[in-house]
Amino acid sequence: MARQALKPAGGESQMSIVRIALDVPIHTLFDYMVDEAVVPGQRVVVPLGRRQMIGVVMESVVSSDVPHGRIRKVLCVLNDSEPLSVGLLELLKFCSDYYHYPIGPTVISALPTRLRSDKPLVVRRDIHYRLIRDAADSLPRRKSVARRIVEMLAAHPCSLAQIKALSATAGAQLKWLEQEGWVEQCEMSGELPTPAVQFVNAHRLTMEQQQAVDAVTQSSNYGCFLLHGITGSGKTEVYVHLMNCMLQRGGQILLLVPEINLTPQLEGYFHSRFPDVPLVSLHSGLSENQRLDHWQQAQTGYAHIVLGTRLSVFAELPKLSLIIVDEEHDSSFKQQDGLRYSARDVAVFRASQRGIPIVLGSATPSLESYHNAQIGRYKLLKLSGRAKADARLPAVSCVNINQSVMTEGVSEKLMREIALRISRSEQSLLFINRRGYAPVLMCTECGWLSDCKNCAGRMVLHLADRKLRCHHCGLQLNMPTSCPSCGHAGLHPVGSGTQRVESLLQARFPDARILRVDKDSTRNKRSWQKMREKIHANEVDILVGTQMLAKGHDFPELTLVGVLGADSALYSADFRASEKLFAQLMQVAGRAGRADKAGSVLIQTAFPDHPLFRCLERHDFDEWATLLLDERRMAGFPPFVFQAMLRAEGKSESDVYTYLGKARAAAIELKCKVEVFGVVPASLARRANHVRAQLLIQAGSRKILQQFLRDWRIDEIPAPRLHCSLDIDPLEF
Ligand SMILES: [Zn+2]
Ligand SMILES: [Zn+2]
Repeated sequence: MARQALKPAGGESQMSIVRIALDVPIHTLFDYMVDEAVVPGQRVVVPLGRRQMIGVVMESVVSSDVPHGRIRKVLCVLNDSEPLSVGLLELLKFCSDYYHYPIGPTVISALPTRLRSDKPLVVRRDIHYRLIRDAADSLPRRKSVARRIVEMLAAHPCSLAQIKALSATAGAQLKWLEQEGWVEQCEMSGELPTPAVQFVNAHRLTMEQQQAVDAVTQSSNYGCFLLHGITGSGKTEVYVHLMNCMLQRGGQILLLVPEINLTPQLEGYFHSRFPDVPLVSLHSGLSENQRLDHWQQAQTGYAHIVLGTRLSVFAELPKLSLIIVDEEHDSSFKQQDGLRYSARDVAVFRASQRGIPIVLGSATPSLESYHNAQIGRYKLLKLSGRAKADARLPAVSCVNINQSVMTEGVSEKLMREIALRISRSEQSLLFINRRGYAPVLMCTECGWLSDCKNCAGRMVLHLADRKLRCHHCGLQLNMPTSCPSCGHAGLHPVGSGTQRVESLLQARFPDARILRVDKDSTRNKRSWQKMREKIHANEVDILVGTQMLAKGHDFPELTLVGVLGADSALYSADFRASEKLFAQLMQVAGRAGRADKAGSVLIQTAFPDHPLFRCLERHDFDEWATLLLDERRMAGFPPFVFQAMLRAEGKSESDVYTYLGKARAAAIELKCKVEVFGVVPASLARRANHVRAQLLIQAGSRKILQQFLRDWRIDEIPAPRLHCSLDIDPLEF
């Protein structure tokens, strides 16, 4: 310290001031002095109070509002990784402004966890493997997984994660190949030359597909395309051809998917179509080291295809030339805590910022995107035919539950259809979006219900381990044998969840092989992948599952889909519930009858004449969307208005309501052209002993809403003992 203070004046003048983003929940950057050359995007370690923290240099400035003597010095400039690009910093600044979330946490949370530590990085790359004997044909036929590994490595070395993504047994097969002298571990540097793109062009495009590809590839600038294609219309084939075109031009492609579960099979698929092209995935299921490795492979421009969930929208991609958002309507693109961004919307901004095309694909576009296509902001590309000419759309029909013989929530008609499928050794799927055995346990004597003592919700019965569980706060109790209130022994499960449907079917079809797929049965990391392999090998007769089964999985033997418990969405308080239900049912219906087998879908409902089911029976998304848009226009809901939701949560009811009341008064006082609603309880008014309430603001344009939010200054309203958040374009109410 003494030696630094003695530095000659000349050295002092070389000090510059930099503004740094720190992970501190304040809407500001922090000024520091630095005596080395630094560039924006570089990571530094700085003192803050008594702590030391990692920060990212955002800009250099000539002067600071902080008195000269009080500006502290950067402790250390980290040179262990490439600085963030100016483009990415701009994207993050945009997100911080638009979502009214502090810049520091926005920037820091975009970094892979390993880069958020103030310890210098010890670079440990993901282990890679390369081929040392290339003769896949001499491997025994039954070693199909080993053969696939060898074929994959023949193109270029791959990481362990990439190989493991091939199959659940790939790890073991790799070990065997290593022992037998087929492969060896190797070091990977990020500077490998880009190999020529080999494109396995397996299919001829239909006219519609070709037109879609041409429309996107001919645009040399920003353009947002909504690819609206029914299930089975070959959206993925359009993606693959678009990717090929961009890869030939040397560009990188970012493909966003809604779910981690979908990435391994897509990774395998894209590998098979582009065997030479380095591809990485980015999602929260990776280890910290893998994530850093994949992130850096994207950052150096080595990985040409990046496949990821919402967080990958912030990946560094120097040669980015195309973004694809698959299943763009899916609500999991929206982050529900911290920076509450919509990865789809950020992706659209990123594409416009870089001047590149973006494709939003869906069979059931969100009303927001659909509306944007109607008013010409997005270009609509339609795929209305199925790619395989002989594949037919499934026949959708309703079973009126008020006029049917029902057993524990399953109609006789559906039972007969399942029996028929078993006799033909085809698969059936029962879709019910509720896990557990029954959503509530009830006393038939006094009417006691299994309410959670911490939440304004019920505890779900899990009969397999005889527990009551709250799905909101995680509270778990042993299942009572008699009523806790009156002592009566007649406790009754009310309603059905996946476990109850499973045991009902087991009793009815004792010889059938039944597989339940929900959050409970797939808790282990690889269990879902193993289940999928079983389904593909036709080792399952009946599948019972939640929305996990609805998403993007291709089950060739599946010819019957039964839908249970759909009606609850029809009387939900959430105005988006019916939009979501339609998308979900369309998606789950699309699972039936893909591989040249006609499929049927039976929906159990008390409202068979509801327009939602009528449109679904005709596979008419356009009519449904038009209907919903008319409703929204009349009611003054999005996409015709823009919303922001202020939420508060705390132990004391009066704290919560006082805070929101003050925020509301401040909003009204501004006299902006926004609509300020009343303070109301959240849909789950109490969770884990915390009272929850919210305040909705609505405006006729984004611009007005953003101006209002800047003027509102809610940070200045005291919020003692509260957890508050501002949600722009909220999806949950
Ligand atoms: Zn009772
Ligand atoms: Zn609870």
